[in-house]
Amino acid sequence: MWAVGTGGYERHITCPECLGEKTLTVIQKNGESFEVECACCRRGYEGSLGVIKQYVQDYRPERFVCNRVTGFSRGLVQYSEAPLDATCYSYKNSDNLFRDKTECQAKCEELNAEDERRREEQFYHHRIGSRRDLAWSVHYWNGKIRKCREELARYEKRLVECKERRAAKGPVAADKKAEEIT
Ligand SMILES: [Zn+2]
Repeated sequence: MWAVGTGGYERHITCPECLGEKTLTVIQKNGESFEVECACCRRGYEGSLGVIKQYVQDYRPERFVCNRVTGFSRGLVQYSEAPLDATCYSYKNSDNLFRDKTECQAKCEELNAEDERRREEQFYHHRIGSRRDLAWSVHYWNGKIRKCREELARYEKRLVECKERRAAKGPVAADKKAEEIT
């Protein structure tokens, strides 16, 4: 018999968001532009890598010698290659077992296509989410910069006011003040 087997592997693809450059250029409506780390291929403390790691299931037909029936679940019979006296065993559901290799191959291809579709969908959501994070952080840091600039302007105004008050008191008063301090 033939069973649907998995030979999963990891693969790296070039990040489609930054095209492997690791950074993105953000252009604001006022024409200002700056570089930011790509959030799509960022992995924690490692930073943006320019590549995305994916896990591929890779279903393929494999020989199966049925030795026992191990159970029955959701309308499917479960078969195992393990000998009858084995206490630990793996099993295959009857919908993943075929007498004909071509039929098994067709099922594997169907599952591989489904796996690919699921991965694409997950990645699409990840990409949209990372763009949202990026937009949020640009908004956040721009807000911080604006606040700092406002504060700086306020302090500078206060400093000017101080100097003006001191000048108004005249040079004598200013010298006296200096003597008091020393
Ligand atoms: Zn990237």
